Amino acid sequence: MTPPLALGDLQRRIVAELGPEVVVSSDTALYARDDGAEGPFVPGLVVRPTGRAQIAPLLRLCHELGVPLSPRGAGTGTVGGCLADHGGLVLDLAGLRQILDIDERSALVTVEPGVITAELQAAVAARGLFYPPDPASSAKCSIGGNIATNAGGPRACKYGVTGAFVLALDVVSGSGQPLALGHRSLKGVTGYDLVHLLVGAEGTLAVTAAATLRLLPQPAAAFTLLAAFPDEAAAAAAVLACRRAGLSPAALELADRTCTRVLLSAGELAVPVPEASGALLWIELDGDEAGLDRALRRAADCCRDAGALAVELAGDEPTRERLWSVRRALSYTLRARWPRKISEDVAVPLGRLPELIAAARQIGARNRLDTASFGHAGDGNLHVNFLYDPTADPSSPQRVRAAVAQLFTATIALGGTLSGEHGVGLAKRPYLPVEQPPELRDLQRAIKRAWDPKGILNPGKKI
Ligand SMILES: Cc1cc2nc3c(=O)[nH]c(=O)nc-3n(C[C@H](O)[C@H](O)[C@H](O)COP(=O)(O)OP(=O)(O)OC[C@H]3O[C@@H](n4cnc5c(N)ncnc54)[C@H](O)[C@@H]3O)c2cc1C
Repeated sequence: MTPPLALGDLQRRIVAELGPEVVVSSDTALYARDDGAEGPFVPGLVVRPTGRAQIAPLLRLCHELGVPLSPRGAGTGTVGGCLADHGGLVLDLAGLRQILDIDERSALVTVEPGVITAELQAAVAARGLFYPPDPASSAKCSIGGNIATNAGGPRACKYGVTGAFVLALDVVSGSGQPLALGHRSLKGVTGYDLVHLLVGAEGTLAVTAAATLRLLPQPAAAFTLLAAFPDEAAAAAAVLACRRAGLSPAALELADRTCTRVLLSAGELAVPVPEASGALLWIELDGDEAGLDRALRRAADCCRDAGALAVELAGDEPTRERLWSVRRALSYTLRARWPRKISEDVAVPLGRLPELIAAARQIGARNRLDTASFGHAGDGNLHVNFLYDPTADPSSPQRVRAAVAQLFTATIALGGTLSGEHGVGLAKRPYLPVEQPPELRDLQRAIKRAWDPKGILNPGKKI
């Protein structure tokens, strides 16, 4: 039998060393879920540091008393990564929200982990600088969570995911050891690349206390096209055609028939879209205004050659913003229409995207489930949603489980991966062996032991 966790002792020592104000005593049930379907797991204890320096002593205490903990940023994750399924502590980093330094000369920003992504973007934009990673949750999610999940987003298509912007991290290991990793120079190859080992580690190796991120100059201009297609195959063909034409869109986002019908019926799209549309493509082009004109024409041609029913330009800022807010809200729009939604996040090599879209639809049909796919088509990353109503159809949860397993098998057969950006967390843990052989998982367990000898950091997740 597992001995009970020393939560009482831990709380007393935390209060003695760090003060009573760091212990969250009300509303701890709010920490029982993230934005996904896992849980509820009410934590045994919630601690919310008021300064970065409190993280190391806190982890030392957890290490000493063997109490497991889960770091939490803004809790917008979709796979249960920040949940205390172990009954231990949740380390709430949302209070650490300072932008510590914006170095305009070197185009760098240093932030605490709880800084909200959109706030960071606005702060650097005010200095003419640009932080491209833009998860659709950017108004709510935190940089610490983005680093721990290696978050993507629409603009990953051109600029890459969060990890492409992380240069240096201040972290605390599972034994409470503070470590400064990486460098503030754009290049640097001393030692192993531990920064990028921690990027995407889902809080299983260390807790991020501060991060230095590289920035770019703001693009001079940006335009969005919304193209409507008769079906998903035509939209996917347009994605490949844009890439083959040498275009480098900032974003190429696709919505399938289900999403298109929902958006059309809600009348939310900011530009006219033909009633017969069965798929949509958002294409964002940014850069130098002179070159953009030609790129816009070529992108529109690629869409029309692939069979587009209409291609509309959103040139002005309010229309662009409305189009993108519809895209960003798509997950919630679907959630409002179906009682339950299981969202997967598979990714395949770009050329296999049409097959992935077709496989998702076939799997939905085979299991008698509504399916809605949308997402980051430009980098082969599709959010496949199985939509169901367990009250009206009690056997549907079982069919969803079968559909998820079939989707993963199909994705791997296409040379893809179970998660493009949301991570493993609790949700994908049972499926990892589909993608990773035992020797690879053993190697990762050895890495975890080096960083977290007692296995207290998000135990059982990620690997
Ligand atoms: C509507 C919606 C749209 C989304 N769109 C996208 C998208 O486009 N792209 C995308 O990639 N994701 C997307 N997500 C998923 C989610 O927003 C991202 O995974 C995000 O990076 C999570 O950040 P967070 O601050 O909410 O982290 P949390 O959910 O709090 O935690 C996520 C993981 O990070 C770990 N963690 C958090 N902070 C730290 C830290 N300081 N040190 C160590 N570990 C830490 C946690 O333990 C957990 O494993 C979306 C979610 C929603 C709800």
